[in-house]
Amino acid sequence: MKEQLNGIGMTSARTRARLIERLFEQGIRDPRVLDCFNKVPRHLFVDEALGHKAYEDISVPIGYAQTLSQPYIVARMTELVLQAPHHETVLEIGTGSGFQTCVLANVVSEVFSVERIEPLQQKARARIRALKLYNTQLKMADGFLGWPTQAPFDVIIGTAAPSEPPKELVDQLIPDGGRLIMPIGEEEQYLTVIDKHGDELDIQKIEPVVFVPMLQGVKRES
Ligand code: SAH
Repeated sequence: MKEQLNGIGMTSARTRARLIERLFEQGIRDPRVLDCFNKVPRHLFVDEALGHKAYEDISVPIGYAQTLSQPYIVARMTELVLQAPHHETVLEIGTGSGFQTCVLANVVSEVFSVERIEPLQQKARARIRALKLYNTQLKMADGFLGWPTQAPFDVIIGTAAPSEPPKELVDQLIPDGGRLIMPIGEEEQYLTVIDKHGDELDIQKIEPVVFVPMLQGVKRES
């Protein structure tokens, strides 16, 4: 990890600048979000053999049949977080590689993230530590249950798709102005934003997406 961190040289500065330009062309305009792609070296989040793919706008396999989302989607979801009425505390469902977690840790006060596959969580924890992002807490848990002892959250972001918005997650949002951002659907998934105003939910379908399914239970074996 240390050598990998030191290895960020001219080449990757240039490839990162190119990725940021591409994201800008795709409509990502928030400078705080674009800057995350400078601050969080994406190649640290994939196996070394796939490092060359880290700065392309594609999703990358991270093992255990899971994927790190393409940069555009990470950026779009992060913009939606920052556009929420409140975005101090964020719960992420599906830590995976930890890339989205680290991006969030750069733009909000506190990030909580749950993952159901232990070896993925362990690798993510090492990366988060190497980047010295101390405003992040991880837990092995089934994300369908949220993180009740830390609730309520200003925003909950999901990086795996359930067929319906999980009620527990809606319940763990702050009552006024809480926002849930996640892919929803089975064969056809939409990135969906649900804004909570007391008992009223305002649901917006943002765009079609392809995410891994959100699954129940935790998996501890490696
Ligand atoms: N945000 C991740 C994306 C990883 S893919 C990244 O930046 O790399 C989605 C992740 O969601 C996978 O790691 C998968 O194990 C996890 N996941 C799926 N269902 C889950 C659940 N019920 N609770 C917690 N994590 C879940």
